[in-house]
Amino acid sequence: MLTLISPDEARRLILERAAPLSAQTVAHGEALGRTLARDIVSTLQLPAFDNSAMDGYALRAADVSDASETAPVKLQILEIIGAGDVPQSTVLRGFCSKIMTGAPLPSGADAVVMREDTRENAQNVEILTTARVGENIRRAGSDVARGEVVLKSGTIIGAAQWAMLASLGLAQIEVFRRPRVAIIVTGAELAAIEAPLGESQIRDSNSFALRALAQNCGAEVVCVRLCGDTCHEFQSVLQETAPLCDAIITSGGVSAGDFDVVRDVLLASAEVIFWKIAMKPGKPLMFAQFEGKPVFALPGNPVSVMVAFEEFARPALLKMGGRRALRRPLVDVRIEGDLRSPGGKVEFVRASIRLENGEWRAQFPADQGSGRLSTMTNANALLVIDAQCEYVNAGEMVPARLIDCPEID
Ligand code: AMP
Ligand code: MG
Repeated sequence: MLTLISPDEARRLILERAAPLSAQTVAHGEALGRTLARDIVSTLQLPAFDNSAMDGYALRAADVSDASETAPVKLQILEIIGAGDVPQSTVLRGFCSKIMTGAPLPSGADAVVMREDTRENAQNVEILTTARVGENIRRAGSDVARGEVVLKSGTIIGAAQWAMLASLGLAQIEVFRRPRVAIIVTGAELAAIEAPLGESQIRDSNSFALRALAQNCGAEVVCVRLCGDTCHEFQSVLQETAPLCDAIITSGGVSAGDFDVVRDVLLASAEVIFWKIAMKPGKPLMFAQFEGKPVFALPGNPVSVMVAFEEFARPALLKMGGRRALRRPLVDVRIEGDLRSPGGKVEFVRASIRLENGEWRAQFPADQGSGRLSTMTNANALLVIDAQCEYVNAGEMVPARLIDCPEID
């Protein structure tokens, strides 16, 4: 029996069928943006050796315990140690070595006084301040200890993680395989961007929205097909693409229309998990398994397709890609206009939110037509209006899902 289910229940049914894909090994250079498939346990310590945190003088703290600007302590300079040098001399009482940031600490020294707190002469240096033992020294292992879990499986390799993997000398990294996604957009009215536009035709835009959304969550789009509104055509495209991918995303043809062939083909030849969700936009979404592959049959309206992807396909693809965190953050926002919402459905209202005096504020177009792609191009958040709620007054707070966090001026 197919009934309207809540968005949360729909997501639960989808996610319980989504499992992380297998791992693969990639070169470090290819690992940026990928997701770690294993915990990274350090086999070495960082830093590898005690070294100086400052340009200055490596000395014995006890030698300068009475040093001050008015009573400087004079020390003989043994050598100059640059980053990458190997110290040659032990620092004994009354001596020091000039040292650069990152250079190994010479034996005998237990503190570094920065150059700014010294007066340099030809053969010696006057130290103008006292030093604590360990001051300006970066101890071996103080950043990362041997045996420590540095990065956890499921972590995205961003700039800092990529740099850390390099610091650990890991040239090969085990990452989750990217979910391979096939996109099939359906509609007899669709014209490809390079094709002539016939009478009553429209440009296909959904395939681009879906490609971008899929790539943004780490998936690899392996094929994009435009497909007419016959069962025969859709059935054969479905059959061709299923073996190539880990998930199929379709747009259009899943509602109540005479030519909604995605619906007919999936009902006839796939295991339909659910059809229709109590939400707006995106209600006619169908989720099915076809030859073991999940099929996200999203409605065709340009907004519906994007909202439905965000709510259902995205968390599933993230999970398949090994991610642990599957949802974008919700923030509370104060709405700047009155909002009417249909009861009985969760409504996702496209809004532009901004931070003002420490508070998020939302503007949104009154016409939330799901064919209006411009409501998406101007939106950075989706206000989530509960199924029970039919009216929210301007000035009230509602939760908003951040779908885009761009830089601001
Ligand atoms: P459907 O869900 O097939 O009934 O389509 C709903 C609406 O979305 C119709 O107005 C379609 O023309 C439009 N639409 C369907 N597919 C696309 C697409 N790929 N690009 C842009 N608009 C589309
Ligand atoms: Mg259609």
